[in-house]
Amino acid sequence: MSSGKVQNVVVVGGGTAGWTAAAAVAKLIGANLNVVLVESDAIGTVGVGEATIPPFRTMHRLLKIDEADFLSRVQGTFKLAIQFENWREVGHDYIHSFGFTGQGCWAAGFQHFWLKAKTLGFAEDYGRYAPELMAAQTGRFGLLQENALSYAFHIDATAYAGLLRQQAEKDGVTRVEGKIVDVRQAESGDIAEVVLESGQAVKGDLFIDCSGFVSLLLDKALGTEFEDWTHWLPCDRAIAVQTTAVEEPIPYTRSIARESGWQWRIPLQTRVGNGLVYCSEFMSDDEARDTLLANLEGALITEPRVLRFRTGQRVKHWNRNCIGLGLAAGFLEPLESTSIHLIQRGVIRLMQMFPYNGITESDRTEFNRQMETEFRYIRDFIIMHYHVTERTDSEFWRRCREMEIPDSLQHRLDLFRDTGRVFETDLDIFRENSWVQVMMGQGIEPQSYHPIVDMMDEQELRQFMQFQGQKVDHILSQLPTHREFIDRYCPTASA
Ligand SMILES: Cc1cc2nc3c(=O)[nH]c(=O)nc-3n(C[C@H](O)[C@H](O)[C@H](O)COP(=O)(O)OP(=O)(O)OC[C@H]3O[C@@H](n4cnc5c(N)ncnc54)[C@H](O)[C@@H]3O)c2cc1C
Repeated sequence: MSSGKVQNVVVVGGGTAGWTAAAAVAKLIGANLNVVLVESDAIGTVGVGEATIPPFRTMHRLLKIDEADFLSRVQGTFKLAIQFENWREVGHDYIHSFGFTGQGCWAAGFQHFWLKAKTLGFAEDYGRYAPELMAAQTGRFGLLQENALSYAFHIDATAYAGLLRQQAEKDGVTRVEGKIVDVRQAESGDIAEVVLESGQAVKGDLFIDCSGFVSLLLDKALGTEFEDWTHWLPCDRAIAVQTTAVEEPIPYTRSIARESGWQWRIPLQTRVGNGLVYCSEFMSDDEARDTLLANLEGALITEPRVLRFRTGQRVKHWNRNCIGLGLAAGFLEPLESTSIHLIQRGVIRLMQMFPYNGITESDRTEFNRQMETEFRYIRDFIIMHYHVTERTDSEFWRRCREMEIPDSLQHRLDLFRDTGRVFETDLDIFRENSWVQVMMGQGIEPQSYHPIVDMMDEQELRQFMQFQGQKVDHILSQLPTHREFIDRYCPTASA
């Protein structure tokens, strides 16, 4: 045991990370804890982070957040997928959807059945067997019985932090307004207190650093080393802007590859979140601004804003008596909308390992092992989108195609190319369906399929494939349009 009992928890920062941590700790394990959150209105939050993935709903179930109420307060729309445009080559697009595609068996995923059916000439597009993908493409959504669709949301990030704040304060979190100007450490090296501009000191036993990119405690105070992944993920800036909606919201995010990066479009009920993620080595801020503004629909609601970042993670997410969450602990660019997910995973882990009786080295080690592993899997998945491409039309894409990639990713790519196999790994948020959809979408076609498929004769396989398609049709036939469903379930007042 390295320190005494933990009773006073200080959360530094009131963005999505800070308020998620404060709300969860106070509601779920906070009976005997004092939870204080310090934030500065003058500094503000990063203000982006609007696309989520399905596990997001788990945290809401724990916090007992009513889904329809939450959605109407954050202008929420439903998200079933991401459409990747121009990623494999200019003019080509594919969809990475949530949920499953078709049905596999114990030895082989559905892709093996599909590959043989394709060889025999009767397979339709791979995506045709994925209900979420087909619903996204046809602009449909609904909550059916037996959870037929796996879904997430598009949300207004600022409104979401406000909603979490309200919930956290209701559950007893004390908010302290002010700018932190000093972080004082005890003799042991642990953090003892943060000091505000006003002179007020806030003491704690455990500190949760949610201060954003500045990483006030984990980096500035404790000097926790940062593992830089820029050589694999070279984009280091984004420019973001909001526009009015000019069409009904679609139930998926769009990711459109550009000359030296990619553009996102996130549809909310009455507005659209847009941004361009780019690599400053190949594109200036002015060029990025021009590219983004030339590719918008709708009128500007906000001024374009440049954000700078470095991709990578702190080698310790938990260092001494400080746990970093959100941008303070690491950043993976938003291509697969994983940052809020990593925040929530960190919060759940913290609650599972909460050091009521004192912080132990073994807890810290386990927390860091799990966070670090989860970051690495997501890193590999994102690198794949850049590296497995046929694009050679710009220096940026040629660099991505030719770069050395992590061995862990190379192995996955080789295995799939040779055999069509994907093995799911503990702590990898992306399951077989995601890897298969993106690998095939980016242009890898396996050279063989699992021989277990040959146990079906041609007629059986034909019927099996037809049945897979009919199951999807049955789901689609029950779905209203996305807009109809929103209007019925969770309209925003201003919509
Ligand atoms: C371009 C871009 C797009 C993104 N898109 C997505 C997405 O689609 N999906 C997704 O899941 N994630 C996305 N993210 C990540 C997401 O925005 C963040 O993970 C999320 O908003 C959490 O941010 P945070 O709370 O860690 O930091 P912030 O929102 O920056 O909050 C930091 C807090 O610390 C406070 N603070 C800082 N310094 C001080 C000080 N000295 N004194 C007092 N308070 C201080 C600030 O006032 C603020 O309250 C994106 C990120 C970027 C950069």
